[in-house]
Amino acid sequence: MARIRLPRLCARLDPLSAARVEMVEQAERGRVLVVAGTHGNERNAPWLLEAWRRHEPPLATAGLAVDLALGNPAAYAANRRYINRDLNRSFGADRLAGPERDCPELEQARALLARHGPQAPQPCQVVFDLHSTTAAMGNCLVVYGRRPADLALAAALQGRLGLPIYLHEADAAQTGYLVERWPCGLVVEVGPVPQGVIAASIARQTAIALEEGFACLAAARDGRLRLPPRLVVHRHLGSLDLPRDGAGEPLACLHPARQHRDWRPLRAGDPLFLTPEGATLPYRPPAGHDDKPVWPVFINEAAYGEKGIALSLCEREVWPLLPGWAEALAAVAAALEPA
Ligand SMILES: [Zn+2]
Repeated sequence: MARIRLPRLCARLDPLSAARVEMVEQAERGRVLVVAGTHGNERNAPWLLEAWRRHEPPLATAGLAVDLALGNPAAYAANRRYINRDLNRSFGADRLAGPERDCPELEQARALLARHGPQAPQPCQVVFDLHSTTAAMGNCLVVYGRRPADLALAAALQGRLGLPIYLHEADAAQTGYLVERWPCGLVVEVGPVPQGVIAASIARQTAIALEEGFACLAAARDGRLRLPPRLVVHRHLGSLDLPRDGAGEPLACLHPARQHRDWRPLRAGDPLFLTPEGATLPYRPPAGHDDKPVWPVFINEAAYGEKGIALSLCEREVWPLLPGWAEALAAVAAALEPA
């Protein structure tokens, strides 16, 4: 709020700056963007999106102006994750600004930003990107990096709904996420559900997280958001692939004791993989990490096979909330328009 009041004061002293103030205020106004179907074979959020467009049922936006967008319409029509490349790895600033023009996902990333981005004629300042997973992640949030406004919003949602948070960072092989191109944004990830399948419980959990997210933003805008004292994050350490032979064929599958055990600690010696002969291959931590458990996520996610990821490993950390986080979220939320 302070950054808006200050130019207003200047405007009184200098009438020439009034137009400039108006431009600043206009640029800072914004809506909330909801993207569904960033991956075309994740059907629950797009199904909800169509219902919300018909107001059957109406989406409870806590009075905020909201834009609804289907992330990857071509992939959705084909019931495929993507056509040429993963849309949710296509938002790297360099690639967006580059000359490549024949990739449908890159063109779609540019179109989403042109229509709903922070510099669009009707700009959005916050984005919720709705996904589902074949892994038993439950209802959770994915945060990319450590932007203070994202962390505050995630903390608020965790405080209200108890959602676990996967903090994805420091993975050079995985970049260019959609939410990173908006000033504030979270991924809502719900599972397990097979690709291409709509399930009532998955859709319900998606809607609950989203509507609570709107409520948090509205509270932040109105100065009445209460944040919990701590944030529990599962910080990405790295990923493991299945053991494979020289031709790339898997020599083992996930151990049944590990399947559907996302967010549960994994310790040295715990069963991890199982060979066709029935031999158990235990988890062997990297040197120096023997006595520390890791927390696996996205266990056996169907879409990650092509990325060589059988599961990702996290460290569980409890962070005190920093005062700057709430301020950063309040600054973004201050710009949000009423419906
Ligand atoms: Zn997805």
